[in-house]
Amino acid sequence: MLNKFFNPDSIAIVGVSLEKEKLANQILKNILEAGYRGKVFPVNNKATPASKVRSLKVYPNLKEIPEKVDLCLVVVPPGAVLSVIDDCADKKINSVVVITAGFKETGPEGARLEKELVKRAREKGIRILGPNVLGIIDTHHHLNASFAPTYPPAGNIAFISQSGALGCTALDQFPLEGVGLSKFISIGNKADLDEVDFILFLKDDPQTRVIMCYLESIERGKEFMKAAKEVVKEKPVVVIKSGRSQAGRKAASSHTGALSGADEAYEVAFKETGVIRVKTVAEAFSVARGFAFQPPPRGERVLLVTNAGGAGIMATDACEDYSVKLATLSEETVQNLKKNLPAASSISNPLDILGDADPERFKITLKEVLPDPAIDAILLLVTPQATTKPKETAHVVCEVYELFKQREKTVLTCFMGGEIMQSATTVLQKAKIPNYNDPDTAVKVLRSMIDYSKIRVGRKEEEGKVFKVEKSKIEVILKEEKEKGYLQIGGAKALEIMKGYRIPVVENYLTRSPEEARQIAEKIGKPLVMKIESPAIVHKSDIGGVKVGIKPDKVEQAFNEIMENAKKFLKGRSDEIKGVSIQPFLKEGREILIGAIKDVNFGHLIRFGLGGKYVELFRDFSTRLVPLTSSRVLEMIEETKIASKLLQGFRDEPAYDVELVKESLLKLSQLVEDIPWIEEIEANPLLVYTKGGAVIDARIRIAKEE
Ligand code: ADP
Ligand code: MG
Repeated sequence: MLNKFFNPDSIAIVGVSLEKEKLANQILKNILEAGYRGKVFPVNNKATPASKVRSLKVYPNLKEIPEKVDLCLVVVPPGAVLSVIDDCADKKINSVVVITAGFKETGPEGARLEKELVKRAREKGIRILGPNVLGIIDTHHHLNASFAPTYPPAGNIAFISQSGALGCTALDQFPLEGVGLSKFISIGNKADLDEVDFILFLKDDPQTRVIMCYLESIERGKEFMKAAKEVVKEKPVVVIKSGRSQAGRKAASSHTGALSGADEAYEVAFKETGVIRVKTVAEAFSVARGFAFQPPPRGERVLLVTNAGGAGIMATDACEDYSVKLATLSEETVQNLKKNLPAASSISNPLDILGDADPERFKITLKEVLPDPAIDAILLLVTPQATTKPKETAHVVCEVYELFKQREKTVLTCFMGGEIMQSATTVLQKAKIPNYNDPDTAVKVLRSMIDYSKIRVGRKEEEGKVFKVEKSKIEVILKEEKEKGYLQIGGAKALEIMKGYRIPVVENYLTRSPEEARQIAEKIGKPLVMKIESPAIVHKSDIGGVKVGIKPDKVEQAFNEIMENAKKFLKGRSDEIKGVSIQPFLKEGREILIGAIKDVNFGHLIRFGLGGKYVELFRDFSTRLVPLTSSRVLEMIEETKIASKLLQGFRDEPAYDVELVKESLLKLSQLVEDIPWIEEIEANPLLVYTKGGAVIDARIRIAKEE
């Protein structure tokens, strides 16, 4: 369906000026200059039968065009766009690019018009790219339906940009980077078609090997994740995501919320789907070039070959920084190299073939190492020294690389320097060997490529576990609270909700009088914890609402003290007090936090980490998006620095009940999936023992609307 946007047999451009070189005329010029092979129909409502622009007949209306039109580019003022859409419908054009700006980006009035535009298009079965876009480029179909000043050479990198200006910036960089473009899509306001649609389309595009995106937001977070998972199996997706909007989250009332950065959901979503996130346009090109030119490594073993000790050391440092593994040469390679290289060479990794290495020595070396089965990737570092012949060396590298190409080894180079190395760069680019200026960048690219290989082969989709829970009962409780206007739920209610989802919680008895409290205490017979029960009190200890280690004979007195403190705090609103909860005083255990917070675009984030008072101090946590699965829960736990070690049993300590933590996380995931209007939920701490455990305090925040 989207095919017509990239490979139309005919294009209409509505809004071409009869007198001036306006935007639409610029687009028309671009279309003609790029060598588009289909038909082009300019449209202007003032056109007469004799009107011509660039020697093409201009039509007064789409309907007047005597032939079928596949794609319509709309470049009229915002107020006139809707009627063009109607004309498109009449003309049976269902692929439309609205270049015109002045919609959502300008304020409420523009947003209203944009909504109307989408509504109209949907009614008529028209797909819209835009509004507020630069247009579309498809180099393989010689289509430049854009007003971008640069038309890059054809190649295998697709580029999706939410910003037109950033789009132009990157397009202009393609030639300098030595890479080519397959398709460029400016998505602008994304009123209808967005990045989700286009990454899915590009997944099956034979001309595209890498998808590069500049994005400022992803509104359809869940759909994006689903799509990205599919696409990444076929080709890498490299994303520059800018903008850290606060809109993604509401004010937080729990630790889980307080730990969230505004950008957290994106970070997690990219990590989970295997989308490669980069910070800068330069970085995006570095990574994209690696993938565009080379196969991703089959394994992780990297060999560094260099003509300079310093370059080798820098690359080794980078390998350590990015956890890239150094290969060990196989014995046969070592022996052959010993025979053929000067005695002073260092035949290990980095493989240092010395500063006086001439092209011949590079050739001998590469011929030995390229077929070595103990190596998955090679980074060749070349510095300009007295006898280095950069261009000849580059030629030799390409020649040997060509000989062993079928071995599918990943080869990157780092011809370091400036002017002298320029000639080498061009040679390498032609042979599709990605060259970088510094070892750090090269190694970072290798890291991304290795990660990509792992993700692609290693992902097994597993079904989430489903627990037997009391969904409807819990829903009723939450609805009741909401109707009473309590959007923050703590104390006994919060524990009850967790319990309904089979998360182990401490025994909790709500008492309403000192006498009742005493009776319960005697029944429990152990030291107790007493806590104020009031929907108006969220942080109980802060107001003297918690007493721990109380013996049964002191319970009545404690009850009264807690009530008094609460009344003081509530300034007489004592009808807000439900009573005092009594729990057995639990022995010390590992204090764990489990929680969830809802992101407007991606849904619930689940959090695991070190619990207790010092949550924000240690910030030892990991995060995933729902739904969780067993293996992802395991990953989450392993990802934390301290919590994972404490649970495993540090040094001589015993192991704690990790299984209980895992199950609790899965149950929490099920809870927020079942009841998505939970905005925030947290158990802190979940006390974990060597066997068993229990939540002793929990909080929930629900939305006003379900
Ligand atoms: P809040 O966080 O609202 O102040 P909590 O219920 O978390 O109230 O109680 C405060 C602290 O008291 C907890 O962090 C924990 O250290 C301790 N505590 C609470 N309940 C128990 C219990 N049942 N057993 C042992 N210690 C408890
Ligand atoms: Mg607490």
